[in-house]
Amino acid sequence: MIDRATIDRIQDAAQIVDVVSDFVTLKKRGVNYLGLCPFHDDRTPSFSVSPTKNICKCFACGEGGNPTHFIMKHEQLTYYEALKYLAKKYNIEVRERELTDEEKVLESERESMFIINDYARNYFQKTLHTNPEGKSIGLSYFRERGFRDDIIKKFELGYALEQRNAFSSEALRLGYKQELLIKTGLVAGGENNSSLYDRFRGRVIFPVHTLSGKVVAFGGRILKSSDRLAKYVNSPESEIYSKSRELYGLYYAKRAIVKEDRCFMVEGYTDVLSMHQAGIENVVSSSGTALTSGQIRLIRRFTHNMTVLYDGDDAGISAALRGIDLLLEEGLNVKVVLLPKGEDPDSFARKQNAESFNKFIEENEVDFIRFKAQLLLNETKDDPVKRAGLISNIVESIALIPDGIKRSVYVKDSAKLLDINEKLLIREVNKIRLKKYDQSKRLVQRRTSKSSDRGTQPAPETSSKKEPIIAVSRKKTRIENIERQIARYIVRYGMTMIFQRYETKKLKGEPNEVEVLVEEGSTVIEFIHFDLERDNIKLTNKLYAQIFEEAYRESVDKNFQPARYFTSHADENISKLATEMVSDRYQLSKIHAKALGEDHDDENSILLEENSLEMSIPRITTELKNAYVMKQISHVMKKIKEADEKGDFESTLRLLQEKKKLEAIKKLLAKMLGEQVIIRY
Ligand SMILES: [Zn+2]
Repeated sequence: MIDRATIDRIQDAAQIVDVVSDFVTLKKRGVNYLGLCPFHDDRTPSFSVSPTKNICKCFACGEGGNPTHFIMKHEQLTYYEALKYLAKKYNIEVRERELTDEEKVLESERESMFIINDYARNYFQKTLHTNPEGKSIGLSYFRERGFRDDIIKKFELGYALEQRNAFSSEALRLGYKQELLIKTGLVAGGENNSSLYDRFRGRVIFPVHTLSGKVVAFGGRILKSSDRLAKYVNSPESEIYSKSRELYGLYYAKRAIVKEDRCFMVEGYTDVLSMHQAGIENVVSSSGTALTSGQIRLIRRFTHNMTVLYDGDDAGISAALRGIDLLLEEGLNVKVVLLPKGEDPDSFARKQNAESFNKFIEENEVDFIRFKAQLLLNETKDDPVKRAGLISNIVESIALIPDGIKRSVYVKDSAKLLDINEKLLIREVNKIRLKKYDQSKRLVQRRTSKSSDRGTQPAPETSSKKEPIIAVSRKKTRIENIERQIARYIVRYGMTMIFQRYETKKLKGEPNEVEVLVEEGSTVIEFIHFDLERDNIKLTNKLYAQIFEEAYRESVDKNFQPARYFTSHADENISKLATEMVSDRYQLSKIHAKALGEDHDDENSILLEENSLEMSIPRITTELKNAYVMKQISHVMKKIKEADEKGDFESTLRLLQEKKKLEAIKKLLAKMLGEQVIIRY
């Protein structure tokens, strides 16, 4: 656990623009910054970052929050992991307090898995550089392939010994838990007391990093030739690793991708390494598997221009056709470069420096649609049946491009290339788009109707794993609405003093009369607590109740800052809610809007809100009581009706008495509510 003072220091240091721009390219728009939202499939920049409020927010999907929230969500970290991440970024020394036994148990499994991966990375690295087998087999392999030491170090390459359980026995000896070693996928076996064995044996190791540089997985390449063993072994999916969300090399490439406004895509780990060594750093690898939309979206945050590099052999060419449709669909500008026959990106980059490499790319890169058409054209030659297939193939690809202008350029281009009527091509493209549109509309309708009972938007693919944090649009009861306002007052103004009384007095030694505080008054928190407790009213909504109770508990400390405390709360539900409450400057409570009249401007409203708490705080607690009484009355009326139908006179009479009492209270409350407005205005 991190102590409170350190948490405050981290929160103070973390600048939202700074934090977000590590992952999203931001452009200044007025006082704010704008970029593509990393949390949904964003095509028009919807992600707004406010340096003055130090928060970010997506207009479209609603994700956002303060720097800690952003890191939690983006890097899939826990609250404390996110704080540690920020502490590291801002060079803040983290003072941790001793964990209680309970907290030790609760310490997240994910964090432990990252710790194990860190340990494994160091272990494999050390083995490569110091173990005799590691040096003679692993290190010499990398050196023979011409990798420089700085590249081997930079990518944290390692080696796993041939021995069946070299890693697992060492890790167990050091106290890493067997269960977690298995969960990370580094170790297998252990069922029914069978012995453990290492997943990676006799292989060189490539750690896979997240965007922020944490190790989530490993790839291992075998060095001896064997028919029995796969050339590459990769970590299985785990709680911290989802293959479809990571791209090898992106951590090392992101800055260069932004700078060059282009990303090279290659197939293998060593392709990435060789290109870095040649000085080309804007390169990522799909690790030989088909690209996913999740991976493409990762790239799209940094650039819209993708150049795919492929081997000059036939296998490379057909691979070039696979997966590229997806890139088009995600709105990227895709170009393709076929390397000279017999070369792959690895071997080719080895013979180049950055300058000659880029020159080759410039001279040889072809627009994808053109590339595909040319390729298919060569294949089909003069066969009319195949030719028809070719045309529909090209049309399918063009139809995927979201941008209309780009589509029409491609249509023109392809019509010329394929020697067919342009209008015909347009019609075919539109037919496909219409069909797709219909399908997606139906899909959205299905999803919305399915989720409408929860009141949530159809979840975008990237966040489908996690439940939406707060189902804001769920219909709230009147009581809940009032409770929310109470929580909001507590978060924003909890420690503000109300009902202080001053008198002008003549003090000894003072020539003039001065204002003197004669009655302490109470804080907003104290007042609400006192007023609700005396009528034995508890907040029913769990979140609001928790905010209320914690605020009361913390308020014994005179320096307690509710806004700061709750926006950086460990419970993400609370910190998000509090951030909303703090940032909704323009959402005045209805009470205020009513009391202030319609023509108030927003800046003034906030000032007025702050200055009229003595009116609004008693009013909101009274409103809550009123809502309770109304609820009870309608409950009693229902019971009266039931008793009446049964002919139970005794109960009816008793209930009528009860109703009378409640109505008297209601009248009193209504009077109070009326007076409270009159008193002030
Ligand atoms: Zn969004």
